[in-house]
Amino acid sequence: MAENQYDAIVVGARCAGSPTAMLLAHRGYKVLVVDRSTFPSDTVSTHLIHPPGVAALRRWGLLDQVIATGCPAIDTYAFDFGPFTLAGSPASADEAASYAPRRTVFDKILVDAASEAGAEVREAFTVEDVLIEDGRITGLRGHAKGGKTVTERARVVVGADGRHSLVARAARAEQYNEKAPILQAYYSYWSGLPTNARFETYVRPGRGFAAWATNDDLTLIVGGWPVAEAEANKKDVEGNFYKSFEQAPEFAERVRGAKREARFSGTAVPNYFRKPFGPGWALVGDAGYNKDFITAQGMQDAFRDAELCVTALDEAFTGARDFDVAMADYQMARDQHVLPMYEFTAQLASLEPPPPEMQQVLGAVHGNQDAMDGFARVAAGVTSPAEFFSQENLGPIFAAAATAAAS
Ligand SMILES: Cc1cc2nc3c(=O)[nH]c(=O)nc-3n(C[C@H](O)[C@H](O)[C@H](O)COP(=O)(O)OP(=O)(O)OC[C@H]3O[C@@H](n4cnc5c(N)ncnc54)[C@H](O)[C@@H]3O)c2cc1C
Repeated sequence: MAENQYDAIVVGARCAGSPTAMLLAHRGYKVLVVDRSTFPSDTVSTHLIHPPGVAALRRWGLLDQVIATGCPAIDTYAFDFGPFTLAGSPASADEAASYAPRRTVFDKILVDAASEAGAEVREAFTVEDVLIEDGRITGLRGHAKGGKTVTERARVVVGADGRHSLVARAARAEQYNEKAPILQAYYSYWSGLPTNARFETYVRPGRGFAAWATNDDLTLIVGGWPVAEAEANKKDVEGNFYKSFEQAPEFAERVRGAKREARFSGTAVPNYFRKPFGPGWALVGDAGYNKDFITAQGMQDAFRDAELCVTALDEAFTGARDFDVAMADYQMARDQHVLPMYEFTAQLASLEPPPPEMQQVLGAVHGNQDAMDGFARVAAGVTSPAEFFSQENLGPIFAAAATAAAS
């Protein structure tokens, strides 16, 4: 077999790829990271980063750069269910706030961090195919914009290439726990719509929408409806978007006084897990696991994947552990961590009224600040839904609600 030029080639240089390349380069590995995009550039995604994602950025020494872009801290999450609002702090033990930097500024920070760590970054480079030799992925073929096809080899090719991952497809990565797209959402940016450090979200029958602040004094509003309505509503996205707000008249009034500053972007996404490793390959970020965006978990999930995957690859490269054993641990840690949130997210994305037991829980949480903070932490991915909705946790919340009702 020809000698490897790189320890790792990472395909995709956004939330999953650049951190993976950066962390491998920090450990002294020879890394190439390629993306067909150039940076700065936008991508179809809103961009709320909850406290666990913020903590990763701090660990990597990047948080100050993100804050310096001017995106304000968000320290309160408010869930308006119509009859009542649950407002609490999403703070984790390490981080008090969330941030929502525009992807144009944020992804560039990540790409530059990979480069500064020593990874070779090739922008405007399109991967055409992977090399497979004796059943093992050994590299890739691709080309720079306008250039000839070149071949690059590595000990491992990491697919950080998003939902339509070429690496996952070429590797025939097993897909499991699949769910069809649930929610069709659109978003844009408004000036003149202050949100006062709050992530505001509105839950109404068949409709969900949210607003929060980002760079340049702009506020992002995202709103959606079930995919079953996607085709019919596509004819008038703007009209249907604004019509949703009529179910929250005060919010509708604020939006009427604001100015939309960008065009609408929108999509619906499939939900799946993929086995994230095999001979000569690994997957991180959306390439390996995707869920509806209603709970805004994707960016911090990508960061966690990068850390877990790099730890496993390092163990395999140094010979400390067998590749399959180390990577199976990465898969298990990922799946165990995200599975309760995956189900919670799918339920929220359906935009169906909460089931009766959930309505009872929400009613008991309302007005109890500790419990509302706990609920905000669930939405932020700080606390697992499995933990928050456990009998041990809910027992005292119901008891406090009963005491309050009796007094
Ligand atoms: C509408 C919407 C709203 C969202 N809102 C949020 C939110 O508020 N908060 C949050 O945390 N998450 C959110 N997400 C999820 C988040 O966008 C993703 O989870 C995250 O961006 C995944 O990053 P990634 O690096 O895995 O993939 P991607 O961001 O998809 O990056 C993949 C990269 O691979 C490159 N690539 C692909 N194929 C090739 C190829 N053949 N050759 C070269 N390059 C290639 C692409 O150019 C791209 O740059 C949202 C998603 C959507 C769709």
